[in-house]
Parts: sequence; C-alpha cells; structure tokens
Amino acid sequence: MPDSSPGVVLVSGGSRGIGRATVLRFARQGAQVAFCYRSNKTAAADLEKEAAELGGRAVATEVDVTDADAVRGWVAETEARVGPLGTVVTSAGIVRDGPLLRMPDEDWHQVVDVNLSGMYNVCRSVIFPMMKRKSGSLVNISSVSGVFGNPTQCNYSAAKSGIIGFTRALAKEVGKYGIRANVVAPGLIETDMTADLSGKRRQEALSAIPLGRFGSSEEVADAVVYLAGASYITGSVLQVDGGIVI
Ligand code: NDP
Repeated sequence: MPDSSPGVVLVSGGSRGIGRATVLRFARQGAQVAFCYRSNKTAAADLEKEAAELGGRAVATEVDVTDADAVRGWVAETEARVGPLGTVVTSAGIVRDGPLLRMPDEDWHQVVDVNLSGMYNVCRSVIFPMMKRKSGSLVNISSVSGVFGNPTQCNYSAAKSGIIGFTRALAKEVGKYGIRANVVAPGLIETDMTADLSGKRRQEALSAIPLGRFGSSEEVADAVVYLAGASYITGSVLQVDGGIVI
C-alpha cells in the first residue's frame, strides 16, 4: 500500500475560504503547509497564527498564480526550505459574472488566467520533482459550474471545465509515476466569493439545493483531504454540492 500521509502540503489561494479551511485541516494533522495568496496580507498572517495554535506550521507567501516565474520560485523555495512536496491543492480562483453578450474581454481573460492558467502554473511547477520521486497527490478545485455550465458564467464554467479535462489527462499521464490527480467540484459554499449573493438570488439558489443550504469551506476541505490521501483514486471528480441541480 502506498503511503497516504500528506507530506509537505502546498495550497494556492490558501488565505481565505476553501483554501484556508484546507490549510487548517492539514495543519491540524501536524503537516507542514505552504500557501499562497494574491494580496490580502492580514488574512494570510491570521491564518499562519491560527495554524500554529493548532500545532501545525503554515507559511504564507504572496504569489500571483498567473505569474509562472513567481509560482516556480515559490515551489522551489518551499521544497528547499521544508522538503519535497507530497500534496498540492490548487484553490486560487475568482469570478467575474455576466452574460456573454456584455462580457468585457478582460473578464474572460482574467477568469481563465487565474482559475485555469493559475492551476496549470502550479501543476507544471511541481510535476517534475514528483515524477523523479515517483509520488505525489494533486487536488484541483473546479466547480459544479464547470461540470454543468451556469448562465452568466461562460468564462468561469469554461475555466472550471478546463480544470477537469486537464486533471483527467494528467492523471493518465503520471499514474505510472505513482502520482494521483483529482478534482473537487464544490457547489455553493459560504465564502467571500458568494457573500454578495443575497435576497431573491440567494433564495433561488437555495431552492436548487436538495439539502437546502450552502456548504461550508470545512465540508469542502474534508473532501480535499480525503482525495489527497485516497491511494487508489485518480482522475475523479468529487462534487461537494448538497445535491445541487443547475
Ligand atoms: P475566496 O474568494 O474566499 O478566496 C480566494 C482565495 O484565492 C484567496 O486566498 C485569494 O487571495 C486567492 N487568490 C485569488 N486570486 C489569486 C491569484 N491571482 N493568485 C493567488 N491567489 C489568488 O474563494 P473561495 O474559497 O470561495 O474559492 C476557492 C476555490 O473554490 C476557487 O477556485 C473557486 O472558484 C472554487 N469554488 C468556490 C465556490 C464557492 O461557492 N465559494 C463554488 C465552487 C468553486 P487573497 O486573499 O490575497 O485575495
């Protein structure tokens, strides 16, 4: 049986929301965690403190995942400082919703750059060292929007579908090196990303969720940690969505 302990954990977009809950779950297991964020220094520093209080170690670095050189530098520096990466989670993401008819080109490019190319930059940077070591586990965060498509989210649905295709292809490429790659596809989760969904729009969203509520970041993090350690699962897409019908 392959070792299913997480080893050193790297989380992109770890300072808030789902990434943050994931960092804390791994920190609670005593793992060494490195996470990146784009700009919110306060949230990142608070998380470092909280992880330490749980007995773990989480180190924050300001890295924009769209900057391939910065991502490569972050990965190399983390491996030099704490050792080889065992688990990598890509959670950095943004939305810029609107109907395609009125979508500014910039909103298309930003959403694809952060969600899809950002995930690519991280996976591309970690894959060769993992292949050399013949072990590693990747968990990429997609969305039910990438599974089913969601109106006003052509940019986001395309990027999140891309993550699924990428991960399945990669799982087939690197399985022979003992590396697994999986996807978690959350539904509507209570984070800053969904905080402005209020009134009628929130009620409509709730009515599409059989479990009748939004999920928590912790519930998604549980799925991430599970897949990260699931030694015979690769290329899978695990929906954490309360049964949402969209
Ligand atoms: P949040 O908005 O709560 O947090 C986003 C995190 O990503 C922050 O840590 C942020 O850093 C970081 N980030 C954003 N852009 C970049 C960038 N360019 N480079 C590095 N870090 C970046 O989002 P959620 O936790 O809600 O979402 C996490 C993931 O889950 C995303 O991929 C999202 O698409 C996906 N998802 C979320 C759902 C939801 O309902 N919330 C549903 C389905 C999928 P900083 O703090 O510095 O801004």
